[in-house]
Amino acid sequence: MVKYPGAEQWVPRTGGMKRVRAVIGECRGCDLWEDAERAVPGEGPVRARMMLVGETPGDNEDKEGHVFVGPAGRLLDKALVEAGIDRSKVYLTNAVKHFRFERQGKRRIHKTPSASQITACRPWLRRELEIVKPALVVVMGSVAARALLGSSFRVGQDRGKPVELPDGRPAVATVHPSAVVRSDEFRRDFGRFVDDLKVAVELLG
Ligand code: SF4
Repeated sequence: MVKYPGAEQWVPRTGGMKRVRAVIGECRGCDLWEDAERAVPGEGPVRARMMLVGETPGDNEDKEGHVFVGPAGRLLDKALVEAGIDRSKVYLTNAVKHFRFERQGKRRIHKTPSASQITACRPWLRRELEIVKPALVVVMGSVAARALLGSSFRVGQDRGKPVELPDGRPAVATVHPSAVVRSDEFRRDFGRFVDDLKVAVELLG
């Protein structure tokens, strides 16, 4: 396994989210900064009660510098509406802040970040959790689950159930919205995704 320095030394301890956004682009905690356009930190109110954590920025997010603006983001928007969640009131972020991809001609094809890259980037996610202090975290997909719940957690098995992060914070795991976008059984899988989000709403009270 490749050993990266990790993001810790680039993560500011003071200055809140404004400072995080100002300096995250300087991070050299792993090799993903080399090919991506930019680091994409989370977005949303810093006092949000719910934080949703995905995988990495995708092609659109990397170009535009915002989280969840591509096809998965549009699907997430629809699912949030169905679940009764106001996107403007939640904090949305990713476990890994730079886009990982492979070039195929002119296209940039998404690649799942490695375990070492997920570990290297975790200090940024930890800092976002410290600043936002959400009452509940929605863990979307296996990369976010690995970052927040450990490598033994299985999203397929334990999705839609109340779980706890290692710090005791309530959480619910579900699939990443991009998995629903790609699904051959879209209607069923979209419904299940919305159901998992509704569990999060119920837990939040
Ligand atoms: S992916 Fe994370 S750890 Fe790696 S360079 Fe980007 S911000 Fe730093």
